[in-house]
Amino acid sequence: MPVNGLPDEKKRLKIEILGCSGGIGPGQHTTCLRINERILIDAGSGLGNLPAEQHALISDIFITHAHLDHVCFLPMFLDGLFEQHTRPIRIHGLANVLETLQQHLFNWKLWPDFSTLPSPENPLLRYNPLQLNQTVKLDGLNITPVLARHTVSASGYLLEDDYGRMLFSGDTTYDASYAQLIENSLPLDLLIIECAFPDRLEDLALRAGHLTPSLLGKLLARLSHPPKRIGITHIKPTLAEEVKSDLDRLHLGENLIYLSSGTSIHV
Ligand SMILES: [Zn+2]
Ligand SMILES: [Zn+2]
Repeated sequence: MPVNGLPDEKKRLKIEILGCSGGIGPGQHTTCLRINERILIDAGSGLGNLPAEQHALISDIFITHAHLDHVCFLPMFLDGLFEQHTRPIRIHGLANVLETLQQHLFNWKLWPDFSTLPSPENPLLRYNPLQLNQTVKLDGLNITPVLARHTVSASGYLLEDDYGRMLFSGDTTYDASYAQLIENSLPLDLLIIECAFPDRLEDLALRAGHLTPSLLGKLLARLSHPPKRIGITHIKPTLAEEVKSDLDRLHLGENLIYLSSGTSIHV
């Protein structure tokens, strides 16, 4: 039964963090989020946390950008579905992002071209290039790419259903136009946003297309009303204590959540 007017958990948008670290190490896995049952966002090493018997449930994968920490487990994941394959897995993303995967990953050199195997009529994967702000509707969920500011073509994704609305930033840095994009996505029940580097390394963060706590603070300061919750991802493991101590200065209180492999959130 719903509690306090909230829909019961089964109906609410569910986000499982399979991985969201900015590096690797024991318990540290790179970006892969599972949405409800059959949708993934990115396919980093966190995808290795999805039990094998659940792999065949996945029907759609939304890619933020082609950097390896976001796609490195996609080839082996698809390879494992070869035998049980019944219909193509749809790989969604900005056209430039999908072209990079086609040309540099599924190119018969690094890995077979799974867009033609086992047969061109019924391949393992089918690319679905998206325009910015083009919404995909799946199981009562609207999923829309939102431009990110990274070193390569990149997007985040806005997810909304009847009950909630969240934005996953993907990898991004800050500028005023990016703040406007987030403003246009408001109101948000949840903003999942990266914060890779500490303030001390702001120059590096800007060059690498990432955020620091103070850049995140500037972004939040420009919003007309804050997201209800802010989930932090992509912290470099060796810099985690410094990033967290810098984030303390933003005084986000209980609205701030540090996300890691194994966390589940209902929106
Ligand atoms: Zn990246
Ligand atoms: Zn990344």
